[in-house]
Amino acid sequence: MPPHIHISVDRLRRRRSTPPSKKPVGDGKACKACGAHFRAEELERNWGVCTTCDHHFPVSSSERITQLADGDEWRELWSELAATDPLRFTDLVPYTERVEQAEAKGVREALVVGELSVQGVPSLAAVMDFGFLGGSMGSVVGEKFARAADRCVETGRPLSVITASGGARMQEGVIALMQMAKTVVAIDDLREAAIPVVVVLAHPTTGGVWASFASMGDFTYAEPGALIAFSGPRVIEQTTREKLPPEFGLAESQLENGQVDAVVDRRELPGRIGSVLNILDRPRADIDDGAGRIARQGRERASRAAQALPKLSRRLRGRLGTGSDGGAE
Ligand SMILES: [Zn+2]
Repeated sequence: MPPHIHISVDRLRRRRSTPPSKKPVGDGKACKACGAHFRAEELERNWGVCTTCDHHFPVSSSERITQLADGDEWRELWSELAATDPLRFTDLVPYTERVEQAEAKGVREALVVGELSVQGVPSLAAVMDFGFLGGSMGSVVGEKFARAADRCVETGRPLSVITASGGARMQEGVIALMQMAKTVVAIDDLREAAIPVVVVLAHPTTGGVWASFASMGDFTYAEPGALIAFSGPRVIEQTTREKLPPEFGLAESQLENGQVDAVVDRRELPGRIGSVLNILDRPRADIDDGAGRIARQGRERASRAAQALPKLSRRLRGRLGTGSDGGAE
């Protein structure tokens, strides 16, 4: 096997030098769907949603947190955790350099976790940032997620998760893949303790993130037009040499297939998440009275809440014993 692949490097360089066709002048952005141009502050005011066609632009983790948290009630946790490079991995650029470049944009990792209050409910949030190495899941993402879950179990507070990820971080190899198991175990702990988990799937949620914690929420919302799939359509088409339908993997078709509970406009998300958390949240006095009682009361409350909700995932219904169509356990 040749040690270097010169052709692909040249091709990437050429591709990088081709300017995007719809780029507006200044600091603005053009809508990918309808071509409308927006200034940065216009977009921010409208939560990164196109006012002409409702296309959802990508937004950073800090914008997400501003949108979700009540007032200034956000306290980031474990921001000191940083990726190491156990494999000393180098592709076109060394991994450490890629991390430094990503950090220079002002985000420290692909997952930001912290304590906040959503529509009056004290809770935790784990928010992914696609701008940091494609929101890829490495050891730091897994560790932060597991710690957030532990904190939720300790405090009895619910967890909101917003995903946007290309999947496992290639540069960390098998260590990145291991985070799938780690985050699934963390979700299982939350399940045992009857802590509600609300997941919002943003564009794109793919690969190892979709195949682990992203698909395990009690309530799963998706943003309009988000790609939610294990493999993207381009990869599948190249592998199978078959044309996929245009709606493949999109949030709307995942709703039809029962993979998500609702497709929700970004501007309505805090309200929707807040309603769910308010229904499922427990009185603060319960929390220090022992895990068994918390779990029992949580389950009873969740069961009552479940019956009051029109659209409930089959998974949750099974778990709560409110339906006859079986549970995940
Ligand atoms: Zn548009």
